[in-house]
Amino acid sequence: MRLRVRLTLPALLAGLLLALAPGQATAASAVYSGPGWRIDTANGIHSLSPAPYLFTFADSASRTRLTPYAQAVAAQLTSVTGATFTVTTIIEAPPAEGSCPAEHHMVLGVKYRPTGVKGMSRAWSCYTNRPGSPDHHAAWGGWTWIDSEYWYANWFSTNATVNAAQIKNAITHEIGHLVGLAHPNTDVDGDGVVEDYECVRTTYGYLPVMCAPGLGGYTTSSGGGQFTSIEAPGLRQLVANYGLG
Ligand SMILES: [Zn+2]
Repeated sequence: MRLRVRLTLPALLAGLLLALAPGQATAASAVYSGPGWRIDTANGIHSLSPAPYLFTFADSASRTRLTPYAQAVAAQLTSVTGATFTVTTIIEAPPAEGSCPAEHHMVLGVKYRPTGVKGMSRAWSCYTNRPGSPDHHAAWGGWTWIDSEYWYANWFSTNATVNAAQIKNAITHEIGHLVGLAHPNTDVDGDGVVEDYECVRTTYGYLPVMCAPGLGGYTTSSGGGQFTSIEAPGLRQLVANYGLG
């Protein structure tokens, strides 16, 4: 009996090793969503490139107003993803709708009601279309118009801290679209309908900054404008997806 056990055990281990080997070969596969985040595959973005991305500005007034906000977002994106996001002083006209800016340029601008709708901003993103290359479907860049109404007195809240945080969150939301995040809205309450503001929340009850139609993100003075803790894995996954199609 003892002898039989000794012989059987090595055979069993060898079988397990063989079974694991094919799994290891296919372990790296792209992931496009998780609790509180979703990658914008609907607009063709699957990943972030390791090559640097540059924030530029639509005009000098936009540069003056948006530079501090862009710097905070760029610092967080660089820190979380390991990719490089740099705020430049470059002024360049956004391309016509349906076109894209220079590769890895993200053009930021402020405009009154850019979509014609009160309180609405918009981002237009592009993706790299090089089939067979590792950066195929990586974020290319794009541009966004932020609604200038956000700087009207008490636009988001009569609480000055909340108001300031929500201006930052609104800008971070649009930049989030440019780097490849979509709205993570999902049917949390299980009623069969995905509603506005219906997103998985952080431990402390905050909506993701990317939750549609907006007003997500931290509302504290230090947390405003930050991608939330549950969105950081989505940003890291964008980098992890690079080269995976
Ligand atoms: Zn959005």
